[in-house]
Amino acid sequence: MKKLTTLLFISLTTYSFQAQSFIQAYKNRADQVSQTNITTMLQEFESMGVKTTGSAANTTALNWLKTKYQSYGYTAGQISEDPFTFGGNISSKNLIITKQGTTYPNTYVIICGHYDTVTGPGVSDNGSGTSIILEAARILKDIPTQYSIKFIHFSGEEQGLEGSGHYADNIVFQNNVRQLDIRLVFNLDQVGGKIGNNNNAIKCESDQSGLTSNDAQSLAFTQQLANCTTLYSPLGTVMSNAYSSDYIPFEQNGDIITGFYENIRSHNEHTINDTFANVDPTYVFNVGKAAVGALQHFAVATTVLGTHDAVANSLESVKIYPNPAKDILNVELPNDIKNFNLEITDLSGRLILNKENGKKINVSGITNGTYLCTIKANNKKAIRKIIIEK
Ligand SMILES: [Zn+2]
Repeated sequence: MKKLTTLLFISLTTYSFQAQSFIQAYKNRADQVSQTNITTMLQEFESMGVKTTGSAANTTALNWLKTKYQSYGYTAGQISEDPFTFGGNISSKNLIITKQGTTYPNTYVIICGHYDTVTGPGVSDNGSGTSIILEAARILKDIPTQYSIKFIHFSGEEQGLEGSGHYADNIVFQNNVRQLDIRLVFNLDQVGGKIGNNNNAIKCESDQSGLTSNDAQSLAFTQQLANCTTLYSPLGTVMSNAYSSDYIPFEQNGDIITGFYENIRSHNEHTINDTFANVDPTYVFNVGKAAVGALQHFAVATTVLGTHDAVANSLESVKIYPNPAKDILNVELPNDIKNFNLEITDLSGRLILNKENGKKINVSGITNGTYLCTIKANNKKAIRKIIIEK
C-alpha cells in the first residue's frame, strides 16, 4: 500500500512538470476532423430515434457504430462487445475498439462516451461525444501511439451508469483483481451546445469527489486537456468537476479520469428537444479538434508526419456565411475548385435550392428555419448547417 502511494506521488510530479508544447503533427491530425462527417453523424444519430437502453433503436445504434469502425478498417479482432443485464431483464452492450500501442501495449488510454438516450434522440446527449469518438478513431487508426487506446461506447448510462459500471467492475476488474492497466479515462458527454449560444469554450472536468487518492493526477491530466484544447482548437477552457457520467465507476475503482462537457448548458438533455436542429455542429467540430489533439498527447502519438496520415478533404475548408443568413449566402472555396454544385435541403431532405458555381446565393425566398447546405466538387462533398432568419 505504502509503495503504491509513493509511486503515485512520483508520477504526479512527472506529470506536473511535463512541458506541453505545440506539435505540428498533432495539429494536422486535429484538423482532419471533418465538419461534414460530424454533421452527417449527428443527423444519422437523430434518425435512429430514442435509443433507450434495451430497445430496438439501441441495438440499431450499436450496429451503426460497428459498421462505422468496419468502414474505417478496424478488424474483427479489434472490435469487441461487453454485454450486460440490469433491472432484472434489461440487456444491452458496450462496444470496445482496441488499437494497440507501440511502447506500452498493455497500458490503455480510454476515450469513451455513451450512445444510449432517453426521451429524445439525444443528438447532444450523447450523439455529440459519440461522433467525436468515431472521428478520433478514424483519424488515428494508422497513427502509431506509445500507449494502447480503447474507444468505448457505453450503453445504460441514462439508467445510472449501468454499462460503464459493468465494464469497470467486470472487465477492468474481475473479483476485485485488476485486469487492465489504465493510464487515463477521457469521457465525452453532451458537447453539442445549443445553436444560437456563443459556444466558444468547453468545460474540462477533473475528479473532485469519491476517492481522494486519484484527485491530484486527475487535475494534472485535466490541465493537460485544457492546454491541448488551446493548442489544437479555437475553444477556450473552463475548469470544472467530474460528476454523473461514465467516468465515475472508473473513479470509484481508483482510476484517473478527465472529461469534456459543454460550457453553456443547453438544458435540452433528456427531452424531445435534444435534436439536430437545436445543436451547434460547429461547436461539436471544434470540440472534436480539441479531443483529437488531447488524445494524441495522452496516448503519445508519433510526432512524425508520415504516409499513414489521411489526406484532408480540401473541400472541408469551404466557408458559408453569414450564418444565420437573411438575403445573400456567400460561398468561399479553395482556389483550385472552379466547378461546384450547391444544394440547400430542409432537415427532412427535401430539395429547396440547387445551383451550379454560384458564390452569392439569394436565399431571401426561403422560409425561416434550419437547413443543410451541401457543396459537391471533384467527387467530394462538404455539408454545413445553415439558418435562414429574416
Ligand atoms: Zn449524457
